[in-house]
Amino acid sequence: MKIAVFSTQPYDRRFLDEANLQSDPSNPFELVYQDASLSARTVSLAQGCEAVCVFVNDVLDAEVLEALAGYGVRAVLLRCAGFNNVDLQAAHRLGLFVARVPAYSPEAVAEHTLALVMTLNRHTHRAYNRVREGNFMLDGLLGITLHDKTVGIVGTGKIGLATARIFKGLGCRVLGYDPYPSADFQAVGEVVELDDLLGASDIVSLHCPLMDSTRHMINRESIRQMKRGAMLVNTSRGALIDTPAVIAALKSRQLGSLAIDVYEQEAQLFFHDRSGDIIDDDVFQRLMTFPNVLVTGHQGFFTEEALREISAVTLHNLSCLRDGVACANVVPAV
Ligand code: NAD
Repeated sequence: MKIAVFSTQPYDRRFLDEANLQSDPSNPFELVYQDASLSARTVSLAQGCEAVCVFVNDVLDAEVLEALAGYGVRAVLLRCAGFNNVDLQAAHRLGLFVARVPAYSPEAVAEHTLALVMTLNRHTHRAYNRVREGNFMLDGLLGITLHDKTVGIVGTGKIGLATARIFKGLGCRVLGYDPYPSADFQAVGEVVELDDLLGASDIVSLHCPLMDSTRHMINRESIRQMKRGAMLVNTSRGALIDTPAVIAALKSRQLGSLAIDVYEQEAQLFFHDRSGDIIDDDVFQRLMTFPNVLVTGHQGFFTEEALREISAVTLHNLSCLRDGVACANVVPAV
C-alpha cells in the first residue's frame, strides 16, 4: 500500500522508515514523503495513494476529504492523539478509515509541561543568557517555591494524570477538573468544579481536547475567575485559549505569566524556520514582547520514545485495515 505522508520533517522520515522496516520487512508500505502540509491546495499530492498520513496542523475538512476519496484514498492515519483537524462526519459519510495514536508518551508532554513551568517560574532561559554575557545579577529572576502551591489540572486524562503525578511529587496540592474524572486521578488529587479550580490554583494547566465545547474555554470571564497573578500553561491545543483575552489579562497583571506549547494560529508558524521572515501575526508578536510569556513550538511530544511509538502505531493502524482486522485506534464519527 502506498501512503502519502504529509508535513514530514527529517525526524518523521527517520522513525517511520525504521518502523516500516520493523513491522513487516517482507511487505513494507510505500511511504511517499511530502514536506507540504495537507490542504485543499496540496491534496492532489495524494493521487495514486491508498492512505494519507497527517499531523496536527494538516487540514482535513469536507473539501479535502472529498478530494481524497475521489482519488481512491481509503485511510487517514493521524500520527497524533488529537483529531480536531478532521471533519469526522464527512470522513464517515465518505467511508474513510480514520485512526490515531491515542497514547504515545503522555509522560513526554507532562515532562514538557514541567519544563515550561520550571523555566518560566525560575527564569532559567533568561539566567542562561545573562550568565553567558557575564551578568550574574539576580534581580529579575525571582521565582516562587512550588512546594505547597496549588496546581489545577483541566482534563485529567492520560497527560493530565501524568502531569498531576509530577506536581504531586513536587509537594504541590493538585486539583483536577474533568467531566469524566478517573479513579486514577482521585488517588493523586482532588476533583473539583472548574470555577473552584480556577479560583484556587497558582498554576492552571490545560490538558483537555479541543472541541466546540472547549474552544476558548480560557476567555475574559474564566481569567477573571483565576487567582490574581496565577500562571497559565497550555500544552494541549492553542484554541482552548482566547489569546487576545490572555494578552489583556497579562497587561492588567490579572494573569501573572503564560507558558504555551500550542497557539491557535500555529499552523502559519510552527514546524518551520521563520527566522528570516516578517511575521504578520500581530497577536503572536505581541505575546513575544512579554518577559513573563514563554512559548515553545509544539514540542511537547518530541522525544525519541514518543516518535518511535507514533510511527509504530501509525503503521500498525494501517496494517489492521489492510489485513481486515479490528483496529482499537479508529476514531469514530461524532
Ligand atoms: P485524554 O483523552 O487521555 O484526556 C483528555 C481528558 O480531557 C479526558 O479525561 C476528557 O474527559 C477530558 N475532557 C473532555 N472535555 C473536557 C472539558 N470540557 N474540561 C475538562 N476536561 C475535559 O487525552 P490526552 O492524551 O491526555 O491528551 C490531551 C490533549 O493533549 C490532546 O487532546 C491533545 O490536544 C494534547 N496533546 C498535545 C501534545 C503536544 O505535543 N503538545 C501532544 C499530545 C497531545
